[in-house]
Amino acid sequence: MPNCLFCDIAQKKEQSSIVYEDELCIAFMDIFPLGTGHVLVIPKKHGVLLNELEQNLQAHIFSIGNKIVSAQRKAGFGVKGTNFLLNDGKAANQTVPHIHLHLIPREKGDFLKAIPKIALHVTGVFGRRTSRETLNAQAKLIREHLLT
Ligand code: 5GP
Ligand code: ZN
Repeated sequence: MPNCLFCDIAQKKEQSSIVYEDELCIAFMDIFPLGTGHVLVIPKKHGVLLNELEQNLQAHIFSIGNKIVSAQRKAGFGVKGTNFLLNDGKAANQTVPHIHLHLIPREKGDFLKAIPKIALHVTGVFGRRTSRETLNAQAKLIREHLLT
């Protein structure tokens, strides 16, 4: 799909910090994280809404998401809890129109801190990018724990 940021990431035309990849999906660090170690899982195939994907691909995205959450926890992200979040459509705060599952590590009492970031996210402005160096280091840590 032309002019789609996440298609460009899937095709490596756009830089990202990759956590996992197979023939159907790719997972990478969110550049404006809502929690430290925030990962996005996307299908390589373009679609805007979840029900545009075949059922086995929908299930695959969640299954890989679940494995990545285990690795995030082993790496120290979201040890106490994680939000699995899928904003399915514009009215549901989807700002990037390519299906993506958020894996947002949470910490006890972090909600107040997250409110300004959430407000920016729903507008699509997002705020300050995390440095590529930091994202690459977090992705490496999560990747290592995916293997264990
Ligand atoms: P949505 O609001 O559509 O559910 O989520 C879109 C997500 O994409 C946001 O969490 C935002 O931080 C993330 N995002 C936006 N632009 C980029 C980018 O260029 N690179 C990466 N890795 N994430 C992005
Ligand atoms: Zn796309």
